[in-house]
Amino acid sequence: MKRKKIAIVGAGIVGISSGIYLAKRGCDVTLIDKDFKGKPASYGNASWLSSPSITPVLMPGMVKKIPKLLFSKDGPLFLRFPGFIKIIPFLLKYLTYASKNKVEHISKNLAYLLKDSVNEHKQLAEGTNATKWIEDSPFLFIYKNKNDFINDEYTWSLRKKHGFKLIEVEQEELKSLVPGLSSEYKFAIKIDNLGYISNSQNYLDDLLDGFKSLGGKLIQDEVLDISEKEDLVQVVGREKSVLVEDIIISSGVYSDKFAKKFGVKVPIQSERGYHLELYETDINLKYPVMNGYLKLAITPRPKGIRFAGLVEFGSLNSNPNPKAFELLMRNAKSMFPGIKFKTKQEWSGHRPSTVDSLPVIGSSSVNKKIHFGYGHHHIGLTGGPKTGKILSKTILRDNEKLDIESFNPSR
Ligand SMILES: Cc1cc2nc3c(=O)[nH]c(=O)nc-3n(C[C@H](O)[C@H](O)[C@H](O)COP(=O)(O)OP(=O)(O)OC[C@H]3O[C@@H](n4cnc5c(N)ncnc54)[C@H](O)[C@@H]3O)c2cc1C
Repeated sequence: MKRKKIAIVGAGIVGISSGIYLAKRGCDVTLIDKDFKGKPASYGNASWLSSPSITPVLMPGMVKKIPKLLFSKDGPLFLRFPGFIKIIPFLLKYLTYASKNKVEHISKNLAYLLKDSVNEHKQLAEGTNATKWIEDSPFLFIYKNKNDFINDEYTWSLRKKHGFKLIEVEQEELKSLVPGLSSEYKFAIKIDNLGYISNSQNYLDDLLDGFKSLGGKLIQDEVLDISEKEDLVQVVGREKSVLVEDIIISSGVYSDKFAKKFGVKVPIQSERGYHLELYETDINLKYPVMNGYLKLAITPRPKGIRFAGLVEFGSLNSNPNPKAFELLMRNAKSMFPGIKFKTKQEWSGHRPSTVDSLPVIGSSSVNKKIHFGYGHHHIGLTGGPKTGKILSKTILRDNEKLDIESFNPSR
């Protein structure tokens, strides 16, 4: 039987997941990436399989907090000049999505995409060595006092509405759950039955090996253009061109230029994020910890701790901001006073953030052979496998009814 020939542009978590599901269904799949060792967002993230992350960054009432986030000494929000000037129209539109009814729409749809994400990853990784990097774990959301948690009531009410059970943790228990944590933090919320990836590079490499063992092919090349050629799709790379029956565009923040050509109008920008990984620390972190004051997710690693977060707009074409790394180090030391480590790693990369905080998943309205899977902002690792599954079902025209209208590329 003739195998359907499919190309996927971008081997982040979305592209790899799509590739695995399509290869499992017998398709002839080629993953094209400009650099398979390029450490994109799928590598440098906080590695949380965070099903409760159903609320957008911009919540009702946040607009008036922006000056403090931006201008206080340890504020987690950065704007980079001159890039920031160009994206002002995007930011103005982005601010309009902070109303209650829009946030509830976003949460409802993200809840569908992010549901049961640990099992989605286990299913994706089944039969590959990648399974060993998926850790079951609770998450801890730390607060300086219970009042601050109560002030976050709206976010938590949305999580509760979508089925998450909150367990209150008082100071003594918190000390034993997070050894070395500053005594400033006296309260936490725990959510059980979640998980994280303990080693992102090994996880992505092992998934890629799994893809190859299903017959998937890799081409390392930068895609420059995508065009229609008779009944097929031509993918023009810097080094070579390929002809395929269907294509998925999953090149993260760089998907935009191809997507625009095929009718997508959803604005997207980079929300640059940063991580600092400390190796051989004297603190043995057991569980992922979220620090909402610093907008930081802290994750156990095989040999240390990763501190990941911050938001920077306007820096897609700039170098990483040294001030962000200094801030991460200050934050690490303020959360874990006296922390010792032997070496460190600094990383920065781009979250693909759409103006309405919902990803773009589905087929082009102008050419049904062109499909999109990008724009997952802060939740792409969590939602990558489900996105890949949805795209494989879309391309292979399964009869299953998928609840994906709000991710429609033509919205
Ligand atoms: C600091 C930080 C912390 C985060 N924490 C979490 C978290 O804990 N949990 C979570 O779920 N999400 C998290 N995220 C978000 C998550 O990492 C992203 O949403 C996700 O990785 C996006 O995956 P992707 O596959 O769409 O894109 P990417 O991972 O960006 O991959 C895109 C790929 O496309 C390739 N590419 C681009 N252009 C071309 C081209 N023209 N030709 C060929 N190849 C091309 C790139 O080389 C790259 O490999 C975090 C992000 C950051 C920055």
